Amino acid sequence: MRKLYSLFLLTFSIISFSQDHSHAIGRKLRFPDINGYKTLKCDLHQHTVFSDGSVWPDIRVQEALLDGLDAISLTEHLEYQPHKDDIPHPDRNRSYEIAIKEAGNHDLVIIKGSEITRKMPPGHCNAVFINDPNKLLLDDSIQVFREAKRQGAFIFWNHPNWMPQRKDGMETLTDVHRLLLKEKLLDGIEVVNDQTYSDEALQIALDNNLTIMGNSDIHKLIDWDFKVPEGGHRPLTLVFAKERNAESIKDALLNRRTIAVYKNLLIGRDEFLVPLIENSLKADSAKYIGKYNVLGVWITNNSSVDITLQNQTGYTLHNNNDMIVLKAGETTTIEIKTIDRKSEISLKFLVLSAVNAPNKHPLVTIRTKIEQTPQ
Ligand code: ZN
Repeated sequence: MRKLYSLFLLTFSIISFSQDHSHAIGRKLRFPDINGYKTLKCDLHQHTVFSDGSVWPDIRVQEALLDGLDAISLTEHLEYQPHKDDIPHPDRNRSYEIAIKEAGNHDLVIIKGSEITRKMPPGHCNAVFINDPNKLLLDDSIQVFREAKRQGAFIFWNHPNWMPQRKDGMETLTDVHRLLLKEKLLDGIEVVNDQTYSDEALQIALDNNLTIMGNSDIHKLIDWDFKVPEGGHRPLTLVFAKERNAESIKDALLNRRTIAVYKNLLIGRDEFLVPLIENSLKADSAKYIGKYNVLGVWITNNSSVDITLQNQTGYTLHNNNDMIVLKAGETTTIEIKTIDRKSEISLKFLVLSAVNAPNKHPLVTIRTKIEQTPQ
């Protein structure tokens, strides 16, 4: 009896534990493919003990595999090497080489990169897809950019809102940045870095035709800094690539095919935002409730972010005001008062949790046929 009782307790505690753990879609991040491209989840700004990070490169690879990422870059500071007395490493390729070995047969693209770490201007920039970071150890900061480009780099401006270099957190282009832009030495800009998002950086991206980036800039552990056990996730750059390899990722970055992801916010250009959100939100079914003229539409959010919509359907809703939150991985019912019965419907929503410019939101359409039921 006592044995049976403890078995009961054990079973009960297993059930309650599994109920506690209620992530609807698990830890691996997911977003649908769009426009004939593969949607690749990338974090191209990370640190290890080979610059000022706290972990060995293998941990970065394991974190990326847990998160279901497609590509990472370990972008150690070229100039800032606080651990060099404890971990001397004359060859700046070591971080990359250890990560490649750890990735082994796993399906993870490792991109060789470095962080050019200068005072403002130009501040900090990442050069990714380089061949040899040792050759970037140059005094003249503009020469570093030229050498990185000679190696075939994609270069982006990191955290232009970083308070130690911008007291007011406002990013502004300087003459040095204008020179870099003129010489085509700057391709992208972080609109999202670590725990920050910047409207000003987004505007600079749009005004100068730069690639929109979002990265973790992780120094410690992803789980700690982004509260993964509590349901959080790291910032990402979604890259829309023809193939799942480094060459295609570079082509996509150079052609500005990206969306930055920050918590539940999506930041990008409409040509990518609109299909990404429309492909994430498919109506599973639509039918009138009983014999009444109120339409129920069941929509599943197949992405890893909650999506907040504002009703632009022209109808009022029966179970909501004009704002609807579609939780990641969950199915939500929207009840619409269509007055008359319809056989199909196009529902327009403004996506409040996405921006295509500062304070501007994309408009998406969810189309569905309506199941015919007795009136
Ligand atoms: Zn950094």
